[in-house]
Amino acid sequence: MATAPEIDAPLNALDDFRTQARDWLAANFPPSLKGRDNAMSAVEGPTEEDAEQRAWREAMGEKGWGVPTWPKEYGGGGLSRAEARVLQEEMTRAGAWNPIGGMGVMMFGPTLLEYGSEEQKREHIPAIARGEVRWCQGYSEPGAGSDLASLQCFAEDHGDHYIVNGQKTWTSGGQWADKCFMLVRTDKSKKHEGITFLLCDMDTPGVEVKPIQLISGSSPFCETFFTDVKVPKSNRVGREGEGWTIGKRLLQHERNSLSGGGSAAGRMFAGTPLAQIAKKYVGVDSEGRIADADLRTRIARHEMDLRSFMLTLRRASLEAKSNQGPSAATSIMKNVGARIMQERSELLIEIRGMAGLGWEGEGFEEDALKDVRHWLFGKAVSIYGGSTEIQNNVIAKRILGMLDHQ
Ligand SMILES: Cc1cc2nc3c(=O)[nH]c(=O)nc-3n(C[C@H](O)[C@H](O)[C@H](O)COP(=O)(O)OP(=O)(O)OC[C@H]3O[C@@H](n4cnc5c(N)ncnc54)[C@H](O)[C@@H]3O)c2cc1C
Repeated sequence: MATAPEIDAPLNALDDFRTQARDWLAANFPPSLKGRDNAMSAVEGPTEEDAEQRAWREAMGEKGWGVPTWPKEYGGGGLSRAEARVLQEEMTRAGAWNPIGGMGVMMFGPTLLEYGSEEQKREHIPAIARGEVRWCQGYSEPGAGSDLASLQCFAEDHGDHYIVNGQKTWTSGGQWADKCFMLVRTDKSKKHEGITFLLCDMDTPGVEVKPIQLISGSSPFCETFFTDVKVPKSNRVGREGEGWTIGKRLLQHERNSLSGGGSAAGRMFAGTPLAQIAKKYVGVDSEGRIADADLRTRIARHEMDLRSFMLTLRRASLEAKSNQGPSAATSIMKNVGARIMQERSELLIEIRGMAGLGWEGEGFEEDALKDVRHWLFGKAVSIYGGSTEIQNNVIAKRILGMLDHQ
């Protein structure tokens, strides 16, 4: 049974905080930025920040409110969960968005806070909290995706540094990243215990990044090659051989974010309601309902699923925060979230009919073209961050307690 983690600050203190947040947002969030998005973490690649966007990011970074619950001593907001919720409510009310994001916030920061040395936290966390450094994830290799522990990228011990050789693939945003958190092999004789967690500057000589083109037309993912790359030992997180434990923890944070953590599911909610699009493209019956009864039923079911998912997500996230952070249950949320997101894309394509198959050019609405690309990109949702089948394995083993041979 969940406790009530949100009740961790007296109500009047929350009222005071709400007033404070509201005043601060009124003074710092430029209304002209309403409805815009985080320029630095777009999937298609970061776009240039204009002066107002930069000022907004710097203000949020200074305040630490981009990562509201992270400790103040490392540049976070130091807020309680209840205050962070109030802040989010006030931001929504003001039409404000969080300009601080990316993999540093989603997964690397929380992992470093847990496993990093004091020096590493002081070096990296404030820069993430201010949105100044972009991180990428060097986990997958051509022969090590689902079976990640079979990775071969090797870091050879050279006293005070390692020399890294090998290849990573699917490095999201590798071409724009400043730094990479990666798993490397430091001992070839052991599988899981031979893995170490390293941090590498992307401009180190010997790091080469080649973007991969996707069916959605964009190339936000890369093959990353490491040839005799020198990485100081001070860039190792945790002990040598402890990388598998740290790396798995990071994956829980990743799944937690990917299953929504608000963002992806939130975007589904924020768009034009499916029913409205269906009425426009499919037409309405004499009672003003979507003309196609079967489609109407499926849209209603989908909307119920989405709402249930959002509510469950919120409950799971509150429960996780009251315990030890994300748990294996994030695998359930990731799978359900992926299914709902893909189902929504399929419905949108079906609703638009011929108008939902455009790639570019006249005769297609901008939203329709965007939805086609989302539909194609959405195929990856059930693969990245661990495929659906792998999440099912995690659920079977860690949640249902089934043994491997069952
Ligand atoms: C768009 C995108 C972005 C990504 N971004 C990053 C990134 O930034 N950094 C990074 O390191 N990686 C990234 N990845 C890699 C991603 O994590 C892997 O693609 C994923 O873990 C699956 O690995 P794989 O592609 O090697 O597939 P494989 O492991 O080869 O799996 C192929 C199929 O076999 C199934 N399968 C494999 N093993 C089992 C099993 N034991 N039981 C049941 N079924 C199984 C899988 O579910 C899948 O359907 C990204 C991938 C994509 C598509």
